[in-house]
Amino acid sequence: MPVNDNASSTAETPNWGDVIRWANHGNPPPPRRVEKTDAQWREQLTDQQYRVTRESGTEPAHSSAMCSLFEPGRYRCVCCDTELFDSKSKFKSQSGWPSFTSPVAEGVVGYRLDDSYGMRRIENTCQVCDAHLGHVFPDGPEPSGLRFCINALSLKKDA
Ligand code: FE
Repeated sequence: MPVNDNASSTAETPNWGDVIRWANHGNPPPPRRVEKTDAQWREQLTDQQYRVTRESGTEPAHSSAMCSLFEPGRYRCVCCDTELFDSKSKFKSQSGWPSFTSPVAEGVVGYRLDDSYGMRRIENTCQVCDAHLGHVFPDGPEPSGLRFCINALSLKKDA
């Protein structure tokens, strides 16, 4: 029998098995940590950014022009400036939120079980500053099969 190359993944391209494992047993460590007080986050962020990133809010679907933006570049955490996603992994999902197939590196995006609203989902966070980003689902395109469904309010794009 040939070895199934899909059984394990690379750091650049996690798969759903990695996501479940990290959510259940803990995430790879972040490259650094940024910790601020609630007052500091409130001062730095707009009310909308604060609601999404620090209170796990969700922006309305189709509310951001970032959904249909596919210019080359990196997407950073709006709170701590960490590079999280690259335009190369961005795809048109029709979901109404910016969607990616993978983060730029292992350890920058965290995975947590989220049982809110009567469903089990996997929440994504920025592992550097604990910002809520969105959720990841196993219905994305190749190469990962993942759909990172991310609030545009949690991201800022490099020019
Ligand atoms: Fe962050």
